[in-house]
Amino acid sequence: MSDATLPGWIAKAVIVVGMGVMMAIRAPHGQRSRRITIARSHKTVLETLLLVLAWIGFFVPLIWVVSPAFSFAEYPLRSGPFGAGLACLAIGLWLLFRSHADLGTNWSITLELRQEHRLITQGVYRTIRHPMYSALLLYSIGQALVIPNWVAGSSNVIAFGVLLALRLRAEEKMMAEQFGDAYAAYSARTKRLVPGVW
Ligand code: SAH
Repeated sequence: MSDATLPGWIAKAVIVVGMGVMMAIRAPHGQRSRRITIARSHKTVLETLLLVLAWIGFFVPLIWVVSPAFSFAEYPLRSGPFGAGLACLAIGLWLLFRSHADLGTNWSITLELRQEHRLITQGVYRTIRHPMYSALLLYSIGQALVIPNWVAGSSNVIAFGVLLALRLRAEEKMMAEQFGDAYAAYSARTKRLVPGVW
């Protein structure tokens, strides 16, 4: 198929639907987790800053949808990147749904351990240790491909990339301290984000 130019509203519709689906996946888990006492918090100032950055990265595409604020950075929407982006968004959302289901009430938006926290090593956690981050990374790459705007398209990839770069090590350290040999064995047989690669 030739790389046709598509009207911009299609990208806007996809972004709004994608965000809606993401919030619908998250909402029940957020509510459920909030009811479970936090046993140990590792929320540092850096973590708070990373969360703020992630929220900005998440909402910039929405500003692009509803206002002309980033019109200076617009470029034509092509069907090739749009199709690839749709696939990334769909797989990302599926993986987000699966990882939330597998992690259950052990989930937190920041570095925290809940009461009776269990180490999950099954389901999508069987081959990689951070399937939820893989899902959010795929989702942000999907947004970058679908949004024909340099600022709004890249915001989530940049914000989430920074969050990952600065959080992964701290999260694994926290899990290793809590679960000791079990986490060491789990780490030895799994990769971080991409099955079989890294
Ligand atoms: N990094 C994981 C989880 C993200 S949510 C992923 O990308 O899928 C972050 C919280 O999940 C952390 O604060 C930690 O408490 C918890 N967590 C991370 N890995 C876990 C695991 N394998 N089992 C149980 N809880 C885990």
